[in-house]
Amino acid sequence: KYVSFLKATNFVHNLLINRIPEGSTVIDGTMGNGYDTLFLHEQVGEEGVVYAFDIQKLALERTKEMLIENNIAIDSNRIRLIHDGHENIGQYVKEPISVAMFNLGYLPNGDKEIITQNSTTIQALSAALSLLQARGIISIVIYYGHIGGLEEKQRLMDYVNNLNSSEYTVMQCSYLNKEKNPPIIVLIEKNK
Ligand code: SAM
Repeated sequence: KYVSFLKATNFVHNLLINRIPEGSTVIDGTMGNGYDTLFLHEQVGEEGVVYAFDIQKLALERTKEMLIENNIAIDSNRIRLIHDGHENIGQYVKEPISVAMFNLGYLPNGDKEIITQNSTTIQALSAALSLLQARGIISIVIYYGHIGGLEEKQRLMDYVNNLNSSEYTVMQCSYLNKEKNPPIIVLIEKNK
């Protein structure tokens, strides 16, 4: 199926689509409106588990609605919608993960002042890295046009630039001809 990279999120889905084994455990670190949660559930299938985090109740409500519209049982243990910050991933996820997705910034069509914060984002990333299995991938889509976004981007870039290259491969994809602070995509693969 043809997937355009006009939208960063589609680009990431396209990249991850063959890298999520059925039955594996995955994390959506920023549930928002639930698009990534739904995508992840479709990839891991009925035997896999998706842990999705958001600090806003509205995000959980919208995600539940979207899953119900797609005929997905939200009361199963296979999709855990967690009303808590991603910095607490380690309290909920104990098994190895094949993928973690982070889509930073604010909830689309929500409160633009509730945004991801650099210190908690780094804590979440570090927790996800410690759960990542060999050949597992973490994707981060960084939107930085909002207040605080530039600082978060800088802290995050410093953090990922310093990951040990014998353990992790880190890549960045950026749009070169888009205006207004286009998102930056960071991909981290665990080498072995
Ligand atoms: N992936 C989402 C989707 O498919 O619609 C979009 C995510 S949106 C760009 C960012 C989300 O991160 C917001 O819903 C916001 O509430 C959430 N967020 C902010 N701080 C957070 C934290 N500490 N832990 C988890 N989610 C957080």
